[in-house]
Amino acid sequence: MGENIVGSLKKKWLPVYGVLAAATGVLLVGLMYLYAKTGANDYSMAAMVDSLFLLYILWSIYKLAKLEFKPRKVVTLVRCEKCGYSEERDYARGDYLFKVKGQCPKCGAPLLVAGIYVKEAGEEEPDFTPLPLPTGLATFITTFSGLKRGD
Ligand SMILES: [Zn+2]
Repeated sequence: MGENIVGSLKKKWLPVYGVLAAATGVLLVGLMYLYAKTGANDYSMAAMVDSLFLLYILWSIYKLAKLEFKPRKVVTLVRCEKCGYSEERDYARGDYLFKVKGQCPKCGAPLLVAGIYVKEAGEEEPDFTPLPLPTGLATFITTFSGLKRGD
């Protein structure tokens, strides 16, 4: 289940981020060109905002690409009733409580299944927050309406 969540997050957001990064990159080049041509500070300001936005998108892409599904592991705890030796093993289909599962490596008595559980160690929820697009777009619109007034 977790694998699907991570997979669908990537499938949903990577293309969006890709398009945004490309658009922001093109815009940045355009703004830098305009600044070089006109020397107007409005363009350099807009280019700065744009490059910050671009960095943020690239960082989000990096974070999203790094996102991995860590599978939960079902383990079977076997314990020797005689000497108290116990160990965790990978759960095998057909394991049940008090099932005899091999011999104790210490004393040779039968090992019994003492527990079957999901191991939580290493388990993490996907740490991902989608880009706050409205905020970014609002910044853009503010910046560009400022540019138009400046003209
Ligand atoms: Zn034992």
